[in-house]
Order: sequence, then structure tokens, then C-alpha cells
Amino acid sequence: MIDVVVIGAGQAGLSSSYYLRREGVEHVVLDANPGPGGAWRHRWPSLTFGGAHAIHDLPGLKLGTPDPHEPASQVVARY
Ligand SMILES: Cc1cc2nc3c(=O)[nH]c(=O)nc-3n(C[C@H](O)[C@H](O)[C@H](O)COP(=O)(O)OP(=O)(O)OC[C@H]3O[C@@H](n4cnc5c(N)ncnc54)[C@H](O)[C@@H]3O)c2cc1C
Repeated sequence: MIDVVVIGAGQAGLSSSYYLRREGVEHVVLDANPGPGGAWRHRWPSLTFGGAHAIHDLPGLKLGTPDPHEPASQVVARY
């Protein structure tokens, strides 16, 4: 049985999902986009990762050191 539905698979939704999972709460994460990453998926291609202000790691998953020349939309969606 699903106890919680998280709307949005951006940073907030993914972080919520991490803690729900850690507490053993059955849940699903839904998003209107075809994949996770939230608003970052829609950044214009010329915004490279190195040109963004940087992002905090999601809980439990290090971002690492992405290529600063790669579009931020690709880096974060893959992450
Ligand atoms: C131009 C720009 C540059 C930015 N640069 C940075 C930066 O350098 N560093 C930084 O930390 N932050 C930056 N931000 C802010 C960053 O976008 C947010 O911090 C982050 O995306 C917030 O994550 P979120 O999960 O709260 O929301 P979002 O990323 O907006 O995710 C919300 C998700 O919910 C989904 N959703 C909403 N309603 C529904 C619904 N009814 N049904 C299904 N799905 C739904 C949406 O499709 C979306 O995927 C920038 C923002 C902008 C606009």
C-alpha cells in the first residue's frame, strides 16, 4: 500500500523521497517531466554547470565533480 505521494522529482521531491525511504514509508514520486531533475531539466543549453551557482548534494548521493563545460540541464538530470 502507498502511504505517501510526492509530487515533483526536483531536489525537494528527491530529498523527501530519500528520508521517506529511510523511514520505511511506502511512497511514489510523480513528476510531469519524463524524468527527475525538476527545473534544471529546462535550463537553456548555454548554461553550463560551471556557469551555475552550484548545487547542494542530494542526501545520500554525492554529485562529484562534473565537467564544468557540460550543460547544467544534462548534468543535473543525469545526477
Ligand atoms: C534561471 C535559474 C537558475 C538557477 N540556478 C541555480 C543554481 O545555480 N543553484 C541552485 O541551487 N539553484 C538554482 N536555481 C534554483 C533551482 O532551480 C531550485 O533551487 C530547484 O530547482 C528547486 O527544486 P524543487 O524540487 O523545489 O523545485 P523544481 O526543481 O521546480 O521541481 C519541481 C518539480 O515538480 C513538478 N511538478 C510540480 N507540480 C506538479 C504536478 N501538479 N504534477 C506533476 N509534477 C509537478 C515539476 O514538473 C518539477 O519537475 C535556479 C533557478 C532558476 C530559475
